[in-house]
Amino acid sequence: MPTKFFGGVHPHTNKITQRDYISELTPPAKVFVPVVQHIGKPAIVKVNVGDYVKVGTLLASADGVISANIFSPVSGKVMAIENRPMGDREVTHIVIDNDFSDNAEFLPKLTNPTKEQILARTAEAGIVGMGGAGFPTAAKLTPPSGVTIDTLVINGAECEPYITSDHRIMLEYPEQILKGIRYIATALDVHNILIGVEENKQDAIDTLNKVIAANNITDIKVVGLKTRYPQGAEKQLIYALTKRVVPACELPSKVGVVVNNVHTALSVYYAVYEGQPLYRRVVTVSGGAVKNKGNYWIRTGTTYKDVLAECKTIDSRENVKVIQDKIKEKQSQLEKLDKSQKSEIKAVRAELKSLEKELSTVKSSQYIMIVNGGPMMGACTQNDENVITKTSSALLFLTEKEVNTVSPSQCINCGKCARVCPMRLMPMFIDAAAIAGDWAEAKKYGAVDCILCGSCSYICPAKRDLVSSMKKSKKMIATRGI
Ligand code: SF4
Ligand code: SF4
Repeated sequence: MPTKFFGGVHPHTNKITQRDYISELTPPAKVFVPVVQHIGKPAIVKVNVGDYVKVGTLLASADGVISANIFSPVSGKVMAIENRPMGDREVTHIVIDNDFSDNAEFLPKLTNPTKEQILARTAEAGIVGMGGAGFPTAAKLTPPSGVTIDTLVINGAECEPYITSDHRIMLEYPEQILKGIRYIATALDVHNILIGVEENKQDAIDTLNKVIAANNITDIKVVGLKTRYPQGAEKQLIYALTKRVVPACELPSKVGVVVNNVHTALSVYYAVYEGQPLYRRVVTVSGGAVKNKGNYWIRTGTTYKDVLAECKTIDSRENVKVIQDKIKEKQSQLEKLDKSQKSEIKAVRAELKSLEKELSTVKSSQYIMIVNGGPMMGACTQNDENVITKTSSALLFLTEKEVNTVSPSQCINCGKCARVCPMRLMPMFIDAAAIAGDWAEAKKYGAVDCILCGSCSYICPAKRDLVSSMKKSKKMIATRGI
């Protein structure tokens, strides 16, 4: 019987790329590598304009424990070190012209590494949580003194719609993932390891189990989880697998658990066994506007624009302009015709009708929003100059049909948002408090416990943007020290 948690929703999964083998996306001619691809302090730039770098050259070094090293994803020349937009802020980016030689300098491979060597390598290789959070892995694997970790949870739930990158790596890299898990377990000195995978990925469960059986592994168990969003959220996953409840505002280590994503485990394998620092990752590229949807190894620092240029659009934006120009031409042709020219008028009108139909089809295939991550928790933007980072599990180019464009209306007190909230909150009351700017009231209703899963916004029949109210409440409570 698959395990589950309280609340949650069943959004349409849209996992159209789940059968697509991972391939390498051609690296771009220029990469823009941000010095922040993690939670914590920006890394400190270590290169200068004009330097020649290789794949794996250290570009910026971690500034403390909650920070991470940043590596070059291509070989070539550093052309600029400049501020560029990243989400809603400006971040230093290192701009490199790719010479396409892929000259590489990796770290020495480690055979039979000790716990200390694994921890050091995880930090050295810039590994961070790749499920989206970006918490530096070495820090996660070093619990505070006095805290005992007895269980390692590996997150293969991948509950967000569209995303299939974790699913594919579990199918295509199971041995490497299990080796990475072994390194992580060695670093933590843990012998109870649970891999949580949603039951809609039975082939991944079977693949992992086959490798586990073939290698007589006894301390790693793959557990099928109920397919329900947000199954992959840390607290929900821990509860589903261990029945332990992580208290509000506490980390999983409080209940003796450390959680790592499957892609993080794969990257730990590459760092330790192959000596490869983290400079690329598997990304699901999908959404109604993309022609060649799929799962790709993509170098960090690749712009969304370059990803789309490689994966191609269903129809180009230029095409919209071309058709619009043709429509204008036909309209002026129509104006010039005399009323007596009935057959000509009829013909031009027919052409106009067909062009308008064509325009509507082409327009409906254009993206109106880009999402880095899944549609429930991902970061939305319209700026295609943003880049792939260590935490980009998916890049979605969504059309109007795939995005909620309905304006919100008054709350009708239906209570649906409370019924689906996995943290057992009352989102409608926090929303009302946020509208009133009453942050103490928002805190009283538990806004700080919100995991920003978006289930409440998804289910709300009034289409209220509840998750924005949650975000704002959390921010105001923190900044005002309420
Ligand atoms: S209030 Fe927060 S945790 Fe609860 S459903 Fe909404 S976003 Fe998720
Ligand atoms: S789901 Fe929407 S309409 Fe229903 S109580 Fe919650 S906020 Fe109000």
